[in-house]
Amino acid sequence: MEGDRPLECGVTIRSSSVSSDPGVSNRDLGHGGGSGSGRGGNATWNRVVIVGGGIAGSLLAKSIQFHADVVLIDQKEYFEIPWATLRSTVEQPVAEKAIFSHTDYLVNGTVITSSAVDVTETDVITADGRHVTYDYLVIATGHTTTSPRCKRDMIEKFKEANVKMRTSSSVLVIGGGPAGVELASDIASVYPDKKVTLVHSGSRLLGFISRKAGNKALEWLRSKNVDVLLEQSIDLDTISEADGIYMTSAGEAIAADCYYVCVNKRLGSSWLRKSMVLKDSLDIYGQLKVDEHLRVKGRNNIFAIGDIIDVPERKQGMLAQKHAVVAAKNLKQLMKVSNKETKLSKYRPSISITMVSLGKKDAVAELPFTTMSGFLPGLIKTRELFLRRTRKLLGVDHHSGFL
Ligand SMILES: Cc1cc2nc3c(=O)[nH]c(=O)nc-3n(C[C@H](O)[C@H](O)[C@H](O)COP(=O)(O)OP(=O)(O)OC[C@H]3O[C@@H](n4cnc5c(N)ncnc54)[C@H](O)[C@@H]3O)c2cc1C
Repeated sequence: MEGDRPLECGVTIRSSSVSSDPGVSNRDLGHGGGSGSGRGGNATWNRVVIVGGGIAGSLLAKSIQFHADVVLIDQKEYFEIPWATLRSTVEQPVAEKAIFSHTDYLVNGTVITSSAVDVTETDVITADGRHVTYDYLVIATGHTTTSPRCKRDMIEKFKEANVKMRTSSSVLVIGGGPAGVELASDIASVYPDKKVTLVHSGSRLLGFISRKAGNKALEWLRSKNVDVLLEQSIDLDTISEADGIYMTSAGEAIAADCYYVCVNKRLGSSWLRKSMVLKDSLDIYGQLKVDEHLRVKGRNNIFAIGDIIDVPERKQGMLAQKHAVVAAKNLKQLMKVSNKETKLSKYRPSISITMVSLGKKDAVAELPFTTMSGFLPGLIKTRELFLRRTRKLLGVDHHSGFL
């Protein structure tokens, strides 16, 4: 697209918003027009800096890109659909749909590929030394990731993982949360001849939902010959594929050609602990304390959305998207010349349906008053993994020709 200046895995500028600063590099990214310079009707042209381009941050960035000077800071240059990328390990082509560049949906903004390391009253500071000035700041750093910085490296990683998967006759999956259960069930479903072992330290699978749901997942896995070992763990500090034998905490030896670690990721808030501005806004779990408008408590111009907030509800992408919708409305309201704080939208914690895929057709779903498993919930999530919905929400198929 004319006007784009993609720097290899660094800053990509869409020319319309940071027009005066074409060579944004390793220095201050000053205001993109400044408060009150007035573009687009009665709106002031403020800079909104969004840290974290996951499920929540990406949707917010897309939603407000024509209402503000949007700068998205993410440690990766691409967006990934977390629950779909898992399947990419088993079926590599899924990666092509589950991963796309931030610039595919943020067509009128700036993407900075770097980790945010600090926040001051006025700036976000990145690992590569940029000081990015904000009028409004949104923290959406969900969970930490070890994914590579560049999209092509990530695709390559999946290709390698896929080759390894295909050539292994036995696989060890460590962790019985949603990631471990979904991965083990995908492997069992796509490669029924492989020996799959799942080791989980808890007394039941899927500890974040009901025992009944966990038991249904266990039944399903065992029916597909997955060997599930509960209340055992593997020492991740000494783990190695070298001899293909893994000892559990109970002294059991598991033979496997390869292993996958699917333990809970840490919340992406450790970088805020040293911020003078936000360190006191974290609760004991590392979540950011927000008010009913999703602003960080006591801060008028800092929002937080997604898994990182302390709203009492499950950590789910569908809810993170709802946060983004509320934050977008509130930012648009605050940026109006006739800004009326009283008109800000409120976010109410939601009860959500939780679904965990079981192979390529089934799922276990926890609904508000019941749990169901099998083909029916599978129809909703498992076959397609909400790929179309997520891509449509971000408007990327218009550009990529997918669908
Ligand atoms: C296996 C599995 C299955 C799931 N299935 C479902 C499902 O079916 N339905 C559902 O609704 N939810 C599901 N979820 C949950 C869902 O993935 C999360 O709730 C959702 O991803 C949270 O979105 P987020 O934007 O808050 O954070 P994330 O999606 O975690 O994104 C965080 C972003 O912040 C970036 N980041 C982190 N730290 C920094 C930093 N310091 N500087 C710059 N960038 C940073 C990361 O690179 C990332 O892009 C599933 C999760 C897993 C693991």
